[in-house]
Formats: sequence, C-alpha cells, structure tokens
Amino acid sequence: MTNRFTLQDPRKQYPQPPFPRQPQPVPGIASKMDPVPDHGETSYVGSGRLNGRRALITGGDSGIGRAAAIAFAREGADVAISYLASEEADAREVIAIIEAEGRKALALPGDITEEAWAREIVERTVQAFGGLDILVVNAGRQQNREDISKVTSDDFDKTMKTNLYALHWIAQAAVPHLPAGASVITTASVQAYEPSAILLDYATTKAGIVAYTKALAKQLIEKGIRANVVAPGPFWTALQSSGGQPPEKVQQFGAESQIGRPGQPVEIAPVYVLLASQEGSYITGEVYGVTGGAGIA
Ligand code: NAD
Ligand code: MG
Repeated sequence: MTNRFTLQDPRKQYPQPPFPRQPQPVPGIASKMDPVPDHGETSYVGSGRLNGRRALITGGDSGIGRAAAIAFAREGADVAISYLASEEADAREVIAIIEAEGRKALALPGDITEEAWAREIVERTVQAFGGLDILVVNAGRQQNREDISKVTSDDFDKTMKTNLYALHWIAQAAVPHLPAGASVITTASVQAYEPSAILLDYATTKAGIVAYTKALAKQLIEKGIRANVVAPGPFWTALQSSGGQPPEKVQQFGAESQIGRPGQPVEIAPVYVLLASQEGSYITGEVYGVTGGAGIA
C-alpha cells in the first residue's frame, strides 16, 4: 500500500491543478474545499516526540494549523486550538481527532483581533493544561486587492491586527508561562521575501512576522526558549479560496511552484513538529521555507 512513507515522485503525490472553481466567504471552511485538503487525519503517524507537552495553536481548526494540531496530538501533546466562531464545524473535527489520541483538547472560539481575547486564549490554555510548552501563532488574514487604491484602511487595519498585533499580544501573554525548553513557532510566508502585487498589506505583515520572531528569539534564548518561523509557499487551504487569491488563480493554485502543485497541509506538519520538539534543540531564530521549490532568500 502506498502511503506518506513510500518512495515516490513528489510531483504526483497529491492533487495537481487545475482545480474546480470554489470561492467561499471568509473565513473559508476546509471541509467545503474540493479536493478536501490532507491535514494528516489518516496519514500522519506519530512517534512520541512531544509526549506530555502542552500546545496552543491559533488557526488550529483548518489548513496548516490543523495539520500541526493533528501532528502534535499524534506525537503525544495536549492541544488547544483558537479559531473564529464561524469555523466551529472545522474545529469540532480537530477536537475529535485530538481526543481520539487520548490527549486533552481545548476549543477557543473567538476573535484574536480583540486584545483581551488574544491574551485570554493563553490564560485559558495554561489553566486547562497546567502550563504551556509550545506556542504556534499561525492565524492569518489574506485578502487580495488588485490595486493599491482598493486596499482600504479597514483592510489594512484588519490585516495588521490579525497577523501582527495578535502575534504580539499572544506572545507577550505567553512568555511568562513558558519553561526552558519551550518553543515558539510563527507562520510567515514566502510573501515576506517575494511579495505578490495583489497582497500589499498581507506581504507587509509576513515580513514583519519574520523580523518580530527573529528579535524575540534573541530575547527568549536567555530563558532557554527557542523561537522560529515557518515560511510556506502555496498550500491548499481555505485561506486561498476565501479571497486570499482571485477564484481563477485558486483553480491554478500551485502550478507555478517547481513541484507543479500546491502543498497539502500534512506536508508541512513535520517542520512544526521538529521545531516544537527537543530534537530541534539547536534551532532558534531560523526561518524554514517549505515552498515547493521557490525557496526563500
Ligand atoms: P486557514 O484559513 O485554514 O487558516 C487561517 C486561520 O486563521 C483560520 O482558520 C482562522 O481560524 C484563523 N483566523 C483568521 N482570522 C482570525 C481572527 N480574527 N481571530 C481568530 N482566528 C482567526 O489557512 P492557512 O493557509 O492554513 O493559514 C495559516 C497560516 O499560514 C496563515 O498565517 C497564512 O498567512 C499562512 N500561509 C498560508 C499559505 C497558503 O498558501 N495557504 C502560504 C503562506 C503562509
Ligand atoms: Mg479555518
């Protein structure tokens, strides 16, 4: 039987474009995508690399955050996921998978652009799990606008609040709780290095996430805590079909990568596991690109 561990051509391992036209309202729902993304539900196999750890993942209901949540639970961690209330259906599926591993799950529906809530998700996780060892700040807003004239102040504000302010609020609330050995992981993007014309505000925040995380890593290592960035290329998630890209670009999503297809969320999960685990003990202040060949520079 062929699985994720079978030697094979990666270009043909997962669905390739063209994809069906599938615009969704924001935030997109993963289960409504065609094809449905592989977040590791049946394909990720753990090996105890995070036994007993306690993790909080923002945007853990779908996409890259969901793949990290499933992988962390399979590796032995208790996992809290933050998401928007309208994503409850996606979140319930993740909670069920975490609990099926015999791990504790915590659902945190709410809007992290509200400072009080952004801070509270940390406190609730600490209370529920008795501490926090792994923080993954991954939630993001991406809405394409074809021209600078179309990027409203409201757009700019919401993108900054979701992608940068919330990162600061959540990290600031979490740091006092993190023990030596803990790991902070942020999700930036290849957009930090090769910004698209239609993603002015988004690309700006992604460059900001890289700088913020590298600066934070320098502070945190004084406490024995590591911090790193993951910079994905095109991944098959609802972020893209809910306005991240124009609908016709979603139909061709990933075609421009060297691999010729988008990544599936499960294909980036091992990087989050490595950075979260003690196996990543010499890795801090780094940016990990997972771009399907474009690279980051
Ligand atoms: P996704 O839509 O599945 O996940 C993003 C999540 O962010 C949503 O599920 C939602 O729960 C959360 N979120 C957004 N606004 C929020 C708010 N105000 N309050 C609380 N939660 C909020 O899409 P994804 O692609 O998995 O995105 C995860 C991260 O990966 C994002 O930071 C995104 O920028 C980044 N990224 C994605 C790609 C890609 O091609 N999919 C490429 C590079 C970077
Ligand atoms: Mg979602």
